[in-house]
Amino acid sequence: MLTVLKFGGTSVKDAEAFKRTSDIIISTDGKKVVVVSALAGITDDLTNIISALDRQNYERAKETIGSVSLKHKQVIADLDLSNDCDLFLEIKISELKLLIEAVEILGELTGKSKDLILSFGECMSSTMLADILSKNGIKAKQKEAGELIITDSEFTEATVLFDQTNEACSCECKKMFDTNDVIVAGGFIASDVRGRRTTLGRGGSDYSASVIAAAIKADRLEIWTDVDGILTSDPHLVKSARLVTELSYIEASELAFFGAKVLHPKTIRPAINAQIPVVVKNSYNPGGPGTVIVNKAVDCSIIKAIAYRKDVTVINIRSNRMLGAYGFLSKVFEIFKKHETSVDLVTTTEVSISLTIDDETKIYEVKKDLEEFSSVEIFRDKAIISAIGEGIRETAGIAARFFNVLKGINVSMVSVGASEVNLSIVIEQPHLDQAVIGLHEEFFGDLGESDLFRKTGESK
Ligand code: ADP
Ligand code: ASP
Ligand code: MG
Repeated sequence: MLTVLKFGGTSVKDAEAFKRTSDIIISTDGKKVVVVSALAGITDDLTNIISALDRQNYERAKETIGSVSLKHKQVIADLDLSNDCDLFLEIKISELKLLIEAVEILGELTGKSKDLILSFGECMSSTMLADILSKNGIKAKQKEAGELIITDSEFTEATVLFDQTNEACSCECKKMFDTNDVIVAGGFIASDVRGRRTTLGRGGSDYSASVIAAAIKADRLEIWTDVDGILTSDPHLVKSARLVTELSYIEASELAFFGAKVLHPKTIRPAINAQIPVVVKNSYNPGGPGTVIVNKAVDCSIIKAIAYRKDVTVINIRSNRMLGAYGFLSKVFEIFKKHETSVDLVTTTEVSISLTIDDETKIYEVKKDLEEFSSVEIFRDKAIISAIGEGIRETAGIAARFFNVLKGINVSMVSVGASEVNLSIVIEQPHLDQAVIGLHEEFFGDLGESDLFRKTGESK
């Protein structure tokens, strides 16, 4: 049995969480690769350091390094980890300080420097986790994630190069498993073909784990987080959200793309390719059933969850008919490609397109180019709500129930994804909470006892 287990930041947020996590690893049979995130909040701190450097506020950057160092020192002391761990922390903190001095002297903050800063959190957490496992008598060793996952050189949002990664992972893990039972790697971090540190984008540790699981042909991928699994909606907004015990790959993948933060959007694809079952579980309730993600949907007559995304911008583009209908659509998408702005939802007629984006960095360049052949309107403060489930393809009446709940709320776009397991709408952000809670009540308010939709907090 070969398992890849991924633990998010909340599963290593303090000494207690580290202990719970190491107990879960120890009680899992067979060989294991463990992928771990930075301690909760640390990547945010590192991002703040980068923002301070961007503003040339070097004092602020140094202060934040001080508090990052203290947070780790505390957990290392609470866990009574080895002197090597303390020493490693000191070395890494000195490296960060040196890097900041270099940025100050050069007056330049590059993507390469950003990734060196961002990767600090996972370098530390993986070293600490390997140390606590060894202390418990487990043959565990930390592995530099950059030797496992190889990417292009798009610093801070790198793309995995699968041929090189598959070879590196299978070769390196095979070697290490000769003498170890557990390999611990930091999530989110990788390196380019020249060995320079890269990162996979925020929340990318889930993706690291699935890339490694696919590369080493693991029997199972477990994503351990701070909620019981994938729920019928975000539990922070919908208090009565239920655990969905089984989802298909496609349902889980659409949920992740449409805002369920519990999984990074890219996580599912490598698992599908390698046909690895994925399980999402709660490290605070390890006895719970979690969500199992497999090939085929268990019930195709219902929706499984409601996801949402905030801070979405809608762009309406109307052709001024300088181009033929086919020329119009392709020209529009060429412009988004040119400015590397990804489009989420699209609805079209022959002469107009409405689409949504959530990264506004290049919006003015996009607008300027579009205005050469069309009129453009931009609307901000929108939100997307998506109902996800294979039932949308198979069952009549779901859309009617969906829109019935939204009576009185202005819906500015409607889209049924090509996968047909996703019905998405765009509304004004201030109506979001009311709409999500209302939709959840409509589809999940009356479940009673159900094996597919379990109450949270239950153990098996
Ligand atoms: P980790 O640190 O383990 O990667 P994340 O914070 O990235 O954890 O993801 C877990 C969080 O995702 C949950 O605490 C929850 O607030 C949020 N979330 C949003 N939608 C869902 C959903 N449908 N099911 C479960 N969690 C969700
Ligand atoms: N630590 C990184 C982040 O917070 C990656 C991850 O946790 O998945 O974004
Ligand atoms: Mg996450």
